[in-house]
Amino acid sequence: MKIVTVDFVKSATSPSGYPRESLPEVAFAGRSNVGKSSLINALVQRKRLARTSNTPGRTQLINFFNINDELLFVDLPGYGFARVPEAVKREWGPMVETYLRERDCLKLVVLILDIRRDPSAEDLALKSWLDFYGRRTLFVLTKMDKLSRGESKKRQRAVKELLNLDAAPILFSAKTGLGRDSVWEAIQRPA
Ligand code: GDP
Repeated sequence: MKIVTVDFVKSATSPSGYPRESLPEVAFAGRSNVGKSSLINALVQRKRLARTSNTPGRTQLINFFNINDELLFVDLPGYGFARVPEAVKREWGPMVETYLRERDCLKLVVLILDIRRDPSAEDLALKSWLDFYGRRTLFVLTKMDKLSRGESKKRQRAVKELLNLDAAPILFSAKTGLGRDSVWEAIQRPA
């Protein structure tokens, strides 16, 4: 997609704060530090739209971005950061689950995993939860520049098996831009 306009819409923690449902939404989820902000920034070709390397502990928000007035990107707070205070961890589940369960205009969830690591218990829990609610999910293995081409392919097969996926996860690197077109293609593919 040719990116013409990218605008921050608003942040919210609960449905009363979400923007009015109008455009289709694509939500991005993954553990903290996995490279979620870097993926979003690479997709929209902005350096600092989504903030990279969030400080753990600050109030976590769902951030909505308008892309070309065609769709919204929804940046969900990252999970699984060991140093996040308990109170913030407790907020994460209901905040994200409510959005994922109730949002009618949500068309696709992009679940981001580090190519070098097996999916965590939280990644698996989120996946079964998305399956349960019948949410279309796209799996992206990021930081592929950290591995050789052969190793990347091997990890791609391993994660496909571990998660019992129909399609292979997409290989991506925010550093080299590899895989960016494939992610866009998958986002724009009709459901
Ligand atoms: P977030 O917490 O999931 O939003 O993760 P960030 O996008 O802030 O990335 C966390 C760290 O990983 C940062 O230091 C990034 O520079 C680095 N990172 C993110 N994506 C990539 C990638 O594709 N390749 C490499 N080598 N580093 C990456």
